[in-house]
Amino acid sequence: MQNRFTPSLVAAVALLFALLLIAPGCISLDGDDTKKEIRVAVTIPPQEEMVREIGGEHVEIFVMVPPGSDPHTYEPLPALVAKAAEADMYLTLGTGLLPVEDVLASRLEAMNPDLVIVDSSRGITYLRNHEETEDWSSGMETGESPDPHIWLSLRNAEIMSVNTRDALIIADPAHEKEYRENCDRYTTRLKELDQRISDAFSGNTPGIILVTHPAWAYFARDYDLEMVAIEHEGKEPTAKELEALIVLGRTHGIRVVFAEAQESTREAETIAREIGGTVRVIDPLAGDYLANMERVSHAFMETGAG
Ligand SMILES: [Zn+2]
Repeated sequence: MQNRFTPSLVAAVALLFALLLIAPGCISLDGDDTKKEIRVAVTIPPQEEMVREIGGEHVEIFVMVPPGSDPHTYEPLPALVAKAAEADMYLTLGTGLLPVEDVLASRLEAMNPDLVIVDSSRGITYLRNHEETEDWSSGMETGESPDPHIWLSLRNAEIMSVNTRDALIIADPAHEKEYRENCDRYTTRLKELDQRISDAFSGNTPGIILVTHPAWAYFARDYDLEMVAIEHEGKEPTAKELEALIVLGRTHGIRVVFAEAQESTREAETIAREIGGTVRVIDPLAGDYLANMERVSHAFMETGAG
């Protein structure tokens, strides 16, 4: 049977297309030549890999705290804020984690009322000082601030990935299948690395990891390590605290003190000298997230403590 377009069918199709074209922004024609870009602002470089892996060619990413900056103290330049205000979505680490993020979220929202702000930590259990834990949904009645370094757990990263995937699907449902497949692929890599690190630490645990900045509590929780930080609530240690850390290092045979790319290594060097160890610089904010997590876990395995 021949399939021929009748004039009335042609007219109907033409009318349908006309309607689609005038419908203001609510219908996007899916096709190879329709590359809808979702502009996504994120706070720190490690989030970029996740959004890129899941969003693929459909996302354009702005990182608000650029490499080499300290997210605890960063003030974004007005030009960057203006650029990010054109974003469709701001994927935050989570409300109340970093002051810069809360300030940015409200500033961007005021500049662009259409901006969708997504809390990527939804579902993650925050660690708090004194090792208290609390779920994000149960509020912050303790008055203690949650530990913002949520991304330094591969298990948290998996939750963040799923939240990212779901936000992209809502913003761009036409590519749902792709986002799901990409997310599955990325979370499989997260799980595999998590398992490898787990296996490695279970056979040869370093026990204590001595770090300058307390960024690794989630990591320590995942692999049953104990993180001891030189810096306390953003402050340098007193002479007495420094002495206690040296005693701890000697007692436990710690050989490596971990300093961070973004800050001074002075105290770390003092302690390392006193315990006959070395300083090793690690980066909690590296943009090559998965590779960096593997690098850092190898570094922690070589601490010689136990
Ligand atoms: Zn930090």
